[in-house]
Amino acid sequence: MSYRPKIAQLQVASQNEKDGLYEFTVKLEDGTHCRVFYSRSPEWKLTHISRLQKTPCPVCRKDFICKCMDQWSEDLHHQMIDEQWVDKGLAEATQQ
Ligand SMILES: [Zn+2]
Repeated sequence: MSYRPKIAQLQVASQNEKDGLYEFTVKLEDGTHCRVFYSRSPEWKLTHISRLQKTPCPVCRKDFICKCMDQWSEDLHHQMIDEQWVDKGLAEATQQ
């Protein structure tokens, strides 16, 4: 079966509302952590994704930088928007 990442948690790492730039830390169901960069101008757009090197890559098993997550950026973007991870994350960040 081919790998398909699924978002389990999202935290806002940094946000710059004025410039519409956002950085999220995403945890996937398999324990993989990613850093995801977004711009909002005016639509949410995923500009960059990188895997945090806490655990080996679920695709290639490397424990250093690889590009595997890039191929899932569109899939993850749909989850971020359709499952309202971005909205929920920003709402939580505002409450703190
Ligand atoms: Zn990889």
